[in-house]
Amino acid sequence: MARKHERVEAKAYFPGPKSENEAWVRAEFQAILDDWFDWRRQYRSDDPAAIEPAERMTPAFLRERERMSQQLGTLKTLMRRETPTYSPRYVGHMVSELTLPALFGHLTALLHNPNNTSKEVSRVGTVIEAEAIAMLAEMIGFDPRRARGHFTSGGTVANFEGVWRARYRLDHWLALALWIAEETGETLDVFASAHMGWARYKRLLETFAPAPEDLRRCSAVAGNPADVIRRLSTACGHDYAGPVVLVPGNKHFSWRKAANVFGLGEEAFWEIALDADGRFDLDDLERLVDRAAARHRPILAVVSVAGTTETGEIDPVDRVADRLQTWRETRGWQLWHHVDAAYGGFLCTIAGATGETGLAPAAVRALRAIGRADSVTIDPHKLGFVPYACGAFLARDRDHYTVSVFAAPYLERERIADDPWTVTLEGSRSAAGAAAVWLTGRTMGFGPDGFGALLGGMVDAARRFQREALATVADLHVLGPVDANIVCFSAARRGEALSRANRRTRELHAALGGAGEFAVTTTTLAAPIHAQQIARHVAHWGGAADDTQLVLIRCVFMNPYWASEAVRKTLLPDFANLLTRCLNAID
Ligand SMILES: *Cc1c(COP(=O)(O)O)cnc(C)c1O
Repeated sequence: MARKHERVEAKAYFPGPKSENEAWVRAEFQAILDDWFDWRRQYRSDDPAAIEPAERMTPAFLRERERMSQQLGTLKTLMRRETPTYSPRYVGHMVSELTLPALFGHLTALLHNPNNTSKEVSRVGTVIEAEAIAMLAEMIGFDPRRARGHFTSGGTVANFEGVWRARYRLDHWLALALWIAEETGETLDVFASAHMGWARYKRLLETFAPAPEDLRRCSAVAGNPADVIRRLSTACGHDYAGPVVLVPGNKHFSWRKAANVFGLGEEAFWEIALDADGRFDLDDLERLVDRAAARHRPILAVVSVAGTTETGEIDPVDRVADRLQTWRETRGWQLWHHVDAAYGGFLCTIAGATGETGLAPAAVRALRAIGRADSVTIDPHKLGFVPYACGAFLARDRDHYTVSVFAAPYLERERIADDPWTVTLEGSRSAAGAAAVWLTGRTMGFGPDGFGALLGGMVDAARRFQREALATVADLHVLGPVDANIVCFSAARRGEALSRANRRTRELHAALGGAGEFAVTTTTLAAPIHAQQIARHVAHWGGAADDTQLVLIRCVFMNPYWASEAVRKTLLPDFANLLTRCLNAID
């Protein structure tokens, strides 16, 4: 059903900054409401009405109506003070216009209000969800027939879902290994056991056949964690200090939350160094893995980021996957690889194109490798242009999706239960996000000619902004490389020290905010994790790196209307003029 090989006319897919598509969008909204009212009328049409015409005319009734009208009026007035994120003048955070299929899909599901916690309260919503998940799975390169997943409230929870499953797996492998070590008296190799793989687990389980309740006592999740840690220490002959999570320094702060929530401790959160491009440094991964092995600390997961929150960098997911594959083949270690593609996942729609994509070859290789991961986070409410709250968690197959089904004993690897609530961190979940993604997939399609064409326009807009606006203004320096559609820059005069440039950039940001013509954000990269990137950036204007921070102005180009030539012709010179004026004013 997905659309293929026909370039979308993106202008049909948005309301328009001046409500250009109002007439027919209004008609579709009306049709959604008509259908909803009709649905209610048709169900058991012989049942009595509960609200008689005469009752709708009583003073009390009319008073309540009036009250609702008035207060709704107040709410609408308040909402008009919200930031107009649909405008191309908004290049602030990772939010922009909504697509019409997303809006139609969301609204339709909202009116029916299914709860995807269970098939009993979501007969249709859960089916739509499974189909929408398959579309996203195909988009990122998973086999859609084997992949599993669900929608979450956002990327934070989707990342938690990844940790939850990685921990489930590690706990199983380690619990069995502990039981065997205690039983046989052999020394436990914690590191190797924690990454043994399901095939070996299955063989050992068949060979030793421990009683389920004995295995439970060896699990740090199903049993007592303090007791298990003590026994692991005894069995391996060192103090067992628990697992570590390897996450690059460009990570989203949800990973820190995960360390906290899962009780791992922040110490267990080992930061992978970044190279001068601000991306995952593979040599450091090697060092950290060696260190973890030497210290008998299992690796719960290795995380890479496709599209960082601050600057949109894309980690070399392909090279991370290669390295993990090598370790799997040569050392027998199965390390869980989670790709946090909350922001950049939808860029896979561009990377799927043949020939010129507008993205750097390294970014294309990285995006094409996301399908080699064990699990992936993706946020339709970012580059999917779907209303909040809509994130998604995807696992490559059933094995990677399995967690403790609550109806079954923890250590029994049940087939995935039918009802979603048993395998999702969240309970009640809306079907609106799934419906929005589903309708987007069925109309625009998540291929290079559909959604890819739309996002390609945004990458192009970011490039034009650099060339036609920033480059025409003196003393602005773009942080490179720009992997996607986020442009960060600082204001610095030739030879000026970083601390002075940071002050100038902050002042420029304040002046831009004061002018109120374009909405931008600011971000700060800090040493030591960003030290190489900062040093290279400061070299652009020959300044001294006398500060541990780099202050940047950040512009996220995800507004679809930048693809319009009329918009660009007016707004790019406007933006350049504004920057010049502000820079002159702050001196
Ligand atoms: C936005 C983001 C998240 C968190 O997503 P929420 O939807 O805000 O919870 C996680 N990781 C990355 C890389 C992100 O950009």
